[in-house]
Amino acid sequence: MHRESLHIETLAVHAGRSVDPATGAVMSPIYLSTTFARAADGSYPHGYVYTRTENPNRAMLETCLAELEDGATALAFASGQAATMALLQSLATNDHVILPADSYFATRALALQVMARWGLAVSVVDVTDPAQVAAAVRPTTRLIWVETPSNPLLKITDIAAVAAIAHAAGALCVVDNTWASPLGQRPLHWGADVVMHATTKYLGGHSDLLGGALVLREAGDLAATLRQVQQIGGAVPSPFDCWLLLRSISTLPYRMRGHSANAAVVAAFLRDHPRVAAVHYPGLPDHPGYAVAARQMALFGGMLSFQVRGDAADALAVAGRVRLFTRATSLGGVESLIEHRASVEGPTSQTPPNLLRVSVGLEHPADLIADLDQALAT
Ligand SMILES: *Cc1c(COP(=O)(O)O)cnc(C)c1O
Repeated sequence: MHRESLHIETLAVHAGRSVDPATGAVMSPIYLSTTFARAADGSYPHGYVYTRTENPNRAMLETCLAELEDGATALAFASGQAATMALLQSLATNDHVILPADSYFATRALALQVMARWGLAVSVVDVTDPAQVAAAVRPTTRLIWVETPSNPLLKITDIAAVAAIAHAAGALCVVDNTWASPLGQRPLHWGADVVMHATTKYLGGHSDLLGGALVLREAGDLAATLRQVQQIGGAVPSPFDCWLLLRSISTLPYRMRGHSANAAVVAAFLRDHPRVAAVHYPGLPDHPGYAVAARQMALFGGMLSFQVRGDAADALAVAGRVRLFTRATSLGGVESLIEHRASVEGPTSQTPPNLLRVSVGLEHPADLIADLDQALAT
Protein backbone atom coordinates (compact mmCIF):
# COMPACT_ATOMS: atom_id res chain seq x y z
CA MET A 1 0.00 0.00 0.00
CA HIS A 2 1.18 3.50 -0.76
CA ARG A 3 1.52 5.22 2.58
CA GLU A 4 3.45 8.38 1.85
CA SER A 5 0.49 10.56 2.70
CA LEU A 6 -0.10 9.03 6.12
CA HIS A 7 1.18 10.60 9.33
CA ILE A 8 3.54 8.75 11.65
CA GLU A 9 0.82 8.30 14.33
CA THR A 10 -1.26 6.45 11.75
CA LEU A 11 1.68 4.39 10.49
CA ALA A 12 2.57 3.42 14.06
CA VAL A 13 -0.87 1.82 14.43
CA HIS A 14 -1.41 0.40 10.93
CA ALA A 15 1.89 -0.24 9.14
CA GLY A 16 2.58 -3.96 8.79
CA ARG A 17 -0.75 -4.93 10.36
CA SER A 18 -3.70 -6.62 8.74
CA VAL A 19 -6.64 -8.71 9.88
CA ASP A 20 -5.54 -12.36 10.08
CA PRO A 21 -6.94 -13.99 6.92
CA ALA A 22 -7.33 -17.41 8.56
CA THR A 23 -9.42 -16.34 11.57
CA GLY A 24 -10.34 -12.67 11.29
CA ALA A 25 -8.28 -11.92 14.41
CA VAL A 26 -7.78 -8.16 14.54
CA MET A 27 -4.48 -8.47 16.40
CA SER A 28 -2.04 -10.81 14.73
CA PRO A 29 -1.36 -14.25 16.20
CA ILE A 30 2.21 -15.18 17.22
CA TYR A 31 3.59 -17.64 14.68
CA LEU A 32 5.83 -19.83 16.82
CA SER A 33 6.19 -22.54 14.16
CA THR A 34 9.79 -22.92 13.06
CA THR A 35 8.88 -24.59 9.79
CA PHE A 36 6.28 -24.13 7.04
CA ALA A 37 4.64 -26.75 4.81
CA ARG A 38 5.48 -27.28 1.17
CA ALA A 39 2.82 -27.96 -1.43
CA ALA A 40 2.70 -31.25 -3.36
CA ASP A 41 4.73 -29.66 -6.15
CA GLY A 42 7.46 -28.69 -3.65
CA SER A 43 6.69 -24.97 -3.65
CA TYR A 44 6.03 -22.90 -0.53
CA PRO A 45 2.55 -21.46 -1.13
CA HIS A 46 2.82 -18.78 1.57
CA GLY A 47 6.45 -17.86 0.94
CA TYR A 48 7.67 -19.01 4.35
CA VAL A 49 10.18 -21.85 4.66
CA TYR A 50 11.98 -21.77 8.01
CA THR A 51 11.77 -19.19 10.78
CA ARG A 52 15.45 -18.22 10.86
CA THR A 53 15.09 -17.07 7.26
CA GLU A 54 11.63 -15.52 7.52
CA ASN A 55 8.77 -15.44 9.98
CA PRO A 56 5.35 -13.74 9.62
CA ASN A 57 5.75 -11.73 12.84
CA ARG A 58 9.17 -10.54 11.76
CA ALA A 59 7.87 -9.64 8.29
CA MET A 60 5.08 -7.50 9.82
CA LEU A 61 7.57 -5.78 12.11
CA GLU A 62 10.01 -5.09 9.27
CA THR A 63 7.25 -3.58 7.13
CA CYS A 64 6.28 -1.30 10.00
CA LEU A 65 9.87 -0.24 10.76
CA ALA A 66 10.53 0.60 7.10
CA GLU A 67 7.43 2.80 6.97
CA LEU A 68 8.18 4.56 10.27
CA GLU A 69 11.61 5.63 9.02
CA ASP A 70 10.37 6.18 5.46
CA GLY A 71 12.84 3.61 4.14
CA ALA A 72 12.61 1.11 1.28
CA THR A 73 13.26 -1.94 3.46
CA ALA A 74 14.02 -2.93 7.04
CA LEU A 75 15.71 -5.86 8.77
CA ALA A 76 15.02 -6.90 12.35
CA PHE A 77 17.70 -8.42 14.58
CA ALA A 78 17.95 -10.04 18.00
CA SER A 79 19.55 -6.93 19.55
CA GLY A 80 20.84 -3.51 18.62
CA GLN A 81 24.36 -4.92 18.68
CA ALA A 82 23.37 -7.71 16.28
CA ALA A 83 22.11 -5.03 13.87
CA THR A 84 25.41 -3.11 14.16
CA MET A 85 27.33 -6.37 13.75
CA ALA A 86 25.44 -7.18 10.54
CA LEU A 87 26.38 -3.79 9.09
CA LEU A 88 30.05 -4.28 9.95
CA GLN A 89 29.88 -7.82 8.50
CA SER A 90 28.62 -6.37 5.22
CA LEU A 91 32.05 -4.76 4.81
CA ALA A 92 35.24 -6.36 3.49
CA THR A 93 38.63 -6.91 5.07
CA ASN A 94 40.68 -3.68 5.27
CA ASP A 95 37.63 -1.47 4.74
CA HIS A 96 37.76 1.65 6.89
CA VAL A 97 34.98 3.01 9.09
CA ILE A 98 34.73 6.30 11.00
CA LEU A 99 33.03 6.15 14.38
CA PRO A 100 32.02 8.95 16.76
CA ALA A 101 34.13 9.47 19.89
CA ASP A 102 30.98 10.04 21.93
CA SER A 103 28.71 7.12 21.11
CA TYR A 104 27.25 3.97 22.56
CA PHE A 105 30.20 2.26 24.23
CA ALA A 106 29.55 -1.20 22.77
CA THR A 107 29.40 0.14 19.19
CA ARG A 108 33.03 1.20 19.46
CA ALA A 109 33.94 -1.97 21.35
CA LEU A 110 32.45 -4.12 18.58
CA ALA A 111 34.41 -2.33 15.85
CA LEU A 112 37.66 -1.91 17.77
CA GLN A 113 37.83 -5.22 19.63
CA VAL A 114 35.81 -7.83 17.74
CA MET A 115 35.94 -6.65 14.12
CA ALA A 116 39.59 -5.58 14.35
CA ARG A 117 40.37 -9.30 14.33
CA TRP A 118 38.67 -9.47 10.91
CA GLY A 119 40.76 -6.66 9.48
CA LEU A 120 38.40 -3.72 9.89
CA ALA A 121 40.21 -0.36 10.04
CA VAL A 122 38.60 2.09 12.45
CA SER A 123 39.06 5.80 13.15
CA VAL A 124 37.35 7.34 16.14
CA VAL A 125 36.81 11.09 15.71
CA ASP A 126 34.53 13.86 16.95
CA VAL A 127 31.84 13.33 14.32
CA THR A 128 30.00 16.46 15.52
CA ASP A 129 32.76 18.42 13.72
CA PRO A 130 32.42 17.87 9.92
CA ALA A 131 36.02 19.08 9.38
CA GLN A 132 37.34 16.24 11.55
CA VAL A 133 35.18 13.74 9.66
CA ALA A 134 36.45 15.00 6.29
CA ALA A 135 40.06 14.83 7.52
CA ALA A 136 39.62 11.20 8.63
CA VAL A 137 38.35 9.98 5.25
CA ARG A 138 40.66 7.51 3.45
CA PRO A 139 40.35 5.93 -0.01
CA THR A 140 39.10 2.79 1.77
CA THR A 141 36.45 4.53 3.88
CA ARG A 142 33.15 2.70 3.42
CA LEU A 143 31.04 3.78 6.35
CA ILE A 144 30.65 6.84 8.56
CA TRP A 145 28.69 6.30 11.76
CA VAL A 146 26.60 9.02 13.36
CA GLU A 147 24.89 8.87 16.72
CA THR A 148 22.79 11.94 17.45
CA PRO A 149 21.95 12.76 20.19
CA SER A 150 24.98 10.81 21.40
CA ASN A 151 25.56 8.71 24.45
CA PRO A 152 26.19 9.91 27.12
CA LEU A 153 26.92 13.60 26.38
CA LEU A 154 23.91 14.27 24.10
CA LYS A 155 26.16 15.75 21.41
CA ILE A 156 24.38 16.72 18.20
CA THR A 157 25.69 15.89 14.74
CA ASP A 158 24.45 17.57 11.57
CA ILE A 159 23.31 14.47 9.66
CA ALA A 160 23.10 16.25 6.28
CA ALA A 161 26.68 17.56 6.60
CA VAL A 162 28.13 14.13 7.42
CA ALA A 163 26.01 12.40 4.77
CA ALA A 164 27.45 14.81 2.17
CA ILE A 165 31.03 13.96 3.25
CA ALA A 166 30.22 10.24 3.17
CA HIS A 167 28.69 10.38 -0.29
CA ALA A 168 31.59 12.41 -1.71
CA ALA A 169 33.87 9.64 -0.43
CA GLY A 170 31.68 6.83 -1.80
CA ALA A 171 30.85 5.74 1.75
CA LEU A 172 27.61 5.06 3.57
CA CYS A 173 26.24 7.35 6.25
CA VAL A 174 24.68 5.30 9.05
CA VAL A 175 22.72 6.92 11.86
CA ASP A 176 22.07 5.22 15.18
CA ASN A 177 18.61 6.69 15.78
CA THR A 178 17.94 4.84 19.03
CA TRP A 179 17.78 7.91 21.27
CA ALA A 180 15.70 10.17 19.04
CA SER A 181 13.38 7.46 17.64
CA PRO A 182 11.62 8.10 14.33
CA LEU A 183 9.47 10.65 16.18
CA GLY A 184 12.52 12.71 17.03
CA GLN A 185 14.13 12.64 13.59
CA ARG A 186 14.08 10.67 10.38
CA PRO A 187 17.71 10.46 9.28
CA LEU A 188 16.89 9.16 5.80
CA HIS A 189 15.25 12.54 5.11
CA TRP A 190 18.59 14.21 5.91
CA GLY A 191 20.59 12.05 3.49
CA ALA A 192 21.56 9.07 5.64
CA ASP A 193 21.65 5.71 3.87
CA VAL A 194 20.94 3.44 6.83
CA VAL A 195 19.17 3.95 10.14
CA MET A 196 20.08 1.65 12.99
CA HIS A 197 17.90 1.14 16.07
CA ALA A 198 18.30 -0.63 19.35
CA THR A 199 14.56 -1.41 19.43
CA THR A 200 15.23 -2.53 23.01
CA LYS A 201 14.89 1.15 23.94
CA TYR A 202 12.10 3.57 22.87
CA LEU A 203 10.55 1.40 20.17
CA GLY A 204 10.15 -1.44 22.68
CA GLY A 205 9.36 1.15 25.31
CA HIS A 206 8.71 -1.09 28.31
CA SER A 207 12.15 -2.50 29.23
CA ASP A 208 11.00 -6.03 28.48
CA LEU A 209 12.39 -6.98 25.09
CA LEU A 210 15.72 -6.97 23.26
CA GLY A 211 15.89 -6.10 19.58
CA GLY A 212 17.65 -4.23 16.82
CA ALA A 213 16.85 -2.99 13.35
CA LEU A 214 18.36 -1.56 10.20
CA VAL A 215 16.26 0.55 7.83
CA LEU A 216 17.65 1.29 4.36
CA ARG A 217 16.89 4.14 2.02
CA GLU A 218 17.24 1.84 -0.98
CA ALA A 219 16.50 -1.84 -1.57
CA GLY A 220 19.71 -2.53 -3.51
CA ASP A 221 22.93 -4.55 -3.14
CA LEU A 222 23.52 -3.50 0.47
CA ALA A 223 20.03 -4.69 1.41
CA ALA A 224 20.73 -8.05 -0.23
CA THR A 225 24.05 -8.42 1.60
CA LEU A 226 22.48 -7.52 4.94
CA ARG A 227 19.60 -9.92 4.31
CA GLN A 228 22.20 -12.64 3.71
CA VAL A 229 23.97 -11.83 7.01
CA GLN A 230 20.62 -11.79 8.83
CA GLN A 231 19.24 -15.02 7.35
CA ILE A 232 22.41 -17.09 7.31
CA GLY A 233 23.99 -15.56 10.40
CA GLY A 234 20.75 -16.06 12.27
CA ALA A 235 20.88 -13.24 14.87
CA VAL A 236 17.11 -12.85 14.51
CA PRO A 237 14.47 -11.84 17.07
CA SER A 238 11.96 -14.40 18.32
CA PRO A 239 8.37 -14.25 16.97
CA PHE A 240 7.19 -13.26 20.45
CA ASP A 241 9.64 -10.34 20.65
CA CYS A 242 8.58 -9.19 17.16
CA TRP A 243 4.94 -9.31 18.25
CA LEU A 244 5.63 -7.42 21.50
CA LEU A 245 7.63 -4.81 19.63
CA LEU A 246 4.91 -4.20 17.07
CA ARG A 247 2.40 -3.85 19.93
CA SER A 248 4.64 -1.25 21.60
CA ILE A 249 5.18 0.73 18.42
CA SER A 250 1.45 1.50 18.31
CA THR A 251 1.90 3.93 21.21
CA LEU A 252 5.38 5.21 20.28
CA PRO A 253 4.27 8.66 19.02
CA TYR A 254 2.42 9.43 22.26
CA ARG A 255 5.10 7.96 24.50
CA MET A 256 7.78 10.04 22.76
CA ARG A 257 5.77 13.22 23.28
CA GLY A 258 5.47 12.42 26.97
CA HIS A 259 9.17 11.52 27.32
CA SER A 260 10.22 14.72 25.55
CA ALA A 261 7.88 16.99 27.51
CA ASN A 262 9.01 15.47 30.83
CA ALA A 263 12.70 15.64 29.88
CA ALA A 264 12.38 19.34 29.02
CA VAL A 265 10.96 20.03 32.49
CA VAL A 266 13.61 17.94 34.25
CA ALA A 267 16.43 19.53 32.20
CA ALA A 268 15.23 23.05 33.08
CA PHE A 269 15.07 22.10 36.78
CA LEU A 270 18.60 20.65 36.77
CA ARG A 271 20.06 23.62 34.86
CA ASP A 272 18.98 25.95 37.68
CA HIS A 273 20.11 23.69 40.52
CA PRO A 274 23.17 24.94 42.48
CA ARG A 275 24.59 21.41 42.93
CA VAL A 276 24.55 20.73 39.19
CA ALA A 277 27.65 21.77 37.21
CA ALA A 278 26.30 21.04 33.72
CA VAL A 279 23.19 19.67 32.01
CA HIS A 280 23.35 18.00 28.61
CA TYR A 281 19.99 18.18 26.82
CA PRO A 282 19.67 19.28 23.18
CA GLY A 283 16.39 21.08 23.88
CA LEU A 284 18.11 23.66 26.10
CA PRO A 285 18.85 26.76 23.98
CA ASP A 286 22.37 27.04 25.47
CA HIS A 287 23.25 23.47 24.37
CA PRO A 288 26.04 23.77 21.74
CA GLY A 289 24.06 21.60 19.31
CA TYR A 290 20.74 23.38 19.83
CA ALA A 291 20.57 25.08 16.42
CA VAL A 292 21.23 21.85 14.51
CA ALA A 293 18.92 19.87 16.81
CA ALA A 294 16.12 22.40 16.37
CA ARG A 295 16.47 22.04 12.60
CA GLN A 296 16.72 18.27 12.25
CA MET A 297 14.66 17.06 15.23
CA ALA A 298 10.89 17.23 15.69
CA LEU A 299 11.20 16.27 19.39
CA PHE A 300 14.31 16.54 21.60
CA GLY A 301 13.68 13.18 23.25
CA GLY A 302 13.64 11.77 26.75
CA MET A 303 17.37 11.34 27.42
CA LEU A 304 19.62 13.76 29.28
CA SER A 305 22.72 13.69 31.39
CA PHE A 306 24.07 16.01 34.05
CA GLN A 307 27.24 16.53 35.99
CA VAL A 308 27.04 16.84 39.74
CA ARG A 309 29.38 19.41 41.34
CA GLY A 310 32.24 17.31 42.67
CA ASP A 311 33.63 13.92 41.71
CA ALA A 312 32.46 10.36 41.09
CA ALA A 313 31.67 9.86 44.76
CA ASP A 314 29.37 12.90 44.79
CA ALA A 315 27.54 11.69 41.68
CA LEU A 316 27.21 8.16 43.07
CA ALA A 317 25.85 9.61 46.32
CA VAL A 318 23.12 11.49 44.42
CA ALA A 319 22.20 8.34 42.52
CA GLY A 320 22.20 6.49 45.84
CA ARG A 321 19.50 8.78 47.27
CA VAL A 322 16.84 8.61 44.53
CA ARG A 323 13.57 6.90 45.49
CA LEU A 324 11.37 7.11 42.40
CA PHE A 325 14.10 6.72 39.77
CA THR A 326 15.59 3.26 39.48
CA ARG A 327 19.37 2.93 39.39
CA ALA A 328 19.81 0.84 36.24
CA THR A 329 21.36 0.91 32.82
CA SER A 330 19.35 1.12 29.59
CA LEU A 331 16.68 3.61 28.59
CA GLY A 332 13.45 4.26 26.77
CA GLY A 333 11.03 2.52 29.12
CA VAL A 334 8.01 4.12 30.77
CA GLU A 335 9.87 4.20 34.13
CA SER A 336 12.62 6.73 34.86
CA LEU A 337 16.15 5.39 35.21
CA ILE A 338 19.35 6.98 36.46
CA GLU A 339 22.83 5.66 35.90
CA HIS A 340 26.40 6.46 36.82
CA ARG A 341 27.69 5.90 33.31
CA ALA A 342 31.46 5.79 33.93
CA SER A 343 31.17 2.84 36.30
CA VAL A 344 29.04 0.77 33.89
CA GLU A 345 31.45 1.51 31.01
CA GLY A 346 34.44 0.28 33.02
CA PRO A 347 38.09 1.30 33.24
CA THR A 348 38.42 2.49 29.60
CA SER A 349 35.42 4.83 29.91
CA GLN A 350 35.94 8.45 28.79
CA THR A 351 32.73 9.65 30.41
CA PRO A 352 33.15 12.43 33.02
CA PRO A 353 33.24 10.70 36.46
CA ASN A 354 30.64 13.08 37.92
CA LEU A 355 28.09 12.39 35.16
CA LEU A 356 24.69 10.82 35.74
CA ARG A 357 22.62 9.74 32.76
CA VAL A 358 18.86 9.93 33.01
CA SER A 359 16.16 8.22 31.00
CA VAL A 360 13.12 10.35 31.76
CA GLY A 361 10.02 8.18 31.98
CA LEU A 362 6.33 8.88 31.81
CA GLU A 363 5.67 9.58 35.49
CA HIS A 364 4.39 13.06 36.40
CA PRO A 365 7.33 15.47 35.95
CA ALA A 366 6.65 17.16 39.32
CA ASP A 367 7.24 13.83 41.07
CA LEU A 368 10.48 13.31 39.14
CA ILE A 369 11.73 16.77 40.05
CA ALA A 370 10.82 16.31 43.71
CA ASP A 371 12.81 13.08 43.76
CA LEU A 372 15.88 14.66 42.14
CA ASP A 373 15.58 17.67 44.45
CA GLN A 374 15.74 15.52 47.58
CA ALA A 375 18.55 13.41 46.09
CA LEU A 376 20.60 16.55 45.33
CA ALA A 377 20.10 18.06 48.79
CA THR A 378 23.15 17.74 50.98
C1 LIG B 1 21.29 0.17 23.75
C2 LIG B 1 21.92 0.83 22.60
C3 LIG B 1 22.56 0.06 21.61
C4 LIG B 1 22.69 -1.44 21.69
O1 LIG B 1 21.46 -2.12 21.69
P1 LIG B 1 21.27 -3.56 22.38
O2 LIG B 1 19.86 -3.90 22.07
O3 LIG B 1 21.57 -3.40 23.84
O4 LIG B 1 22.23 -4.50 21.74
C5 LIG B 1 23.10 0.74 20.53
N1 LIG B 1 23.05 2.09 20.44
C6 LIG B 1 22.47 2.84 21.37
C7 LIG B 1 22.46 4.32 21.23
C8 LIG B 1 21.89 2.25 22.50
O5 LIG B 1 21.30 3.01 23.43
